[in-house]
Amino acid sequence: MRGRAPLSLDDCRCPVCLEIFMEPVTLPCKHTFCKSCFLETVNKATLCCPMCRKRVSTWARLNSRNNTLVNQELWKQIQTCFPLQCQRRLTGQEAEVDQAGTGTHTGRDIP
Ligand SMILES: [Zn+2]
Ligand SMILES: [Zn+2]
Repeated sequence: MRGRAPLSLDDCRCPVCLEIFMEPVTLPCKHTFCKSCFLETVNKATLCCPMCRKRVSTWARLNSRNNTLVNQELWKQIQTCFPLQCQRRLTGQEAEVDQAGTGTHTGRDIP
């Protein structure tokens, strides 16, 4: 039986962009990157893992064709554990909260 340790944010950090994984792609060598980082680095680096230099060309071609690049199980866990971080990256928002300041203030004292 496998123990299910809860994910820590450090486990979900992409070694390329140092942000939380967006649509994580886990290579056969067990290194994981965001899909966009994977496409940026692995595709450009003659289809080798940027971490260990393992060739993943066959794997990458097969999985892009089948649309199975993304590690859906991990992606689901990340979205469950860190919904705020995901939202922020997906919408491209920063941490600041922007609230519409419509000051409708009815400060009337009726006795
Ligand atoms: Zn990344
Ligand atoms: Zn690797």
